[in-house]
Amino acid sequence: MHARAPASPQETTERGRLLFAGPCDFVLGAALLQHIPESILPEIAFAGRSNVGKSSLVNALTGRKTLARVSNTPGRTREINFFRLGGTLMLADLPGYGFARASKAESERWAGLVFEYLRGRPSLRRVILLIDSRRGLLENDVEVMTLLDRAAVSYQLILTKTDKLKPGELAAIASRVAAASRAHGAAHPELIATSALTGQGIPELRAELAALADT
Ligand code: GDP
Repeated sequence: MHARAPASPQETTERGRLLFAGPCDFVLGAALLQHIPESILPEIAFAGRSNVGKSSLVNALTGRKTLARVSNTPGRTREINFFRLGGTLMLADLPGYGFARASKAESERWAGLVFEYLRGRPSLRRVILLIDSRRGLLENDVEVMTLLDRAAVSYQLILTKTDKLKPGELAAIASRVAAASRAHGAAHPELIATSALTGQGIPELRAELAALADT
């Protein structure tokens, strides 16, 4: 067996582009653990506060305008929605957390479903944890990071809506968020700044996920 030569940055970007240009299909929404599909493909989960821009980012990644809208229709917001990217990668869109009106029972249900999902998912390569660049890390983001640390799941912080900030503001928030994430054992060190509106960071994130699909 010969080890493959490491891919150049251009090759990695191209692999990401090709992966996300291929077919992407909604598989199902699971409100209960027993409805979660069998773990066959490498999987990436997306998490974040509601309104963080998660649906917009999933749509920007896949180049489809309406793919993740299903997760925002009433009744589906408490479900984990699964999308299959060709025969290569499964995307799991976790329900948004941090609703202002969420009761304690609702928040506990969220944590219960998500924790059970995270614990029993050997195919899960990484959780992409979205942070609104205007707000930075809020208390419930840190709670979720602690939950991910406890579940020993590798995760990566991604800033969203960066078009809303001036470059200097973005640099300041990015260094604050990166510094805070270094205190968390399971957090991946590289922060990617994205905008679903301008496309900033989308090729980099696609490349990162394509590399995970190969592992
Ligand atoms: P979700 O609840 O996390 O799925 O968030 P959505 O994707 O539905 O986005 C919430 C709001 O933020 C919507 O009004 C979007 O139009 C807006 N939004 C999402 N991404 C961006 C972005 O990159 N830039 C800007 N300016 N607005 C965004």
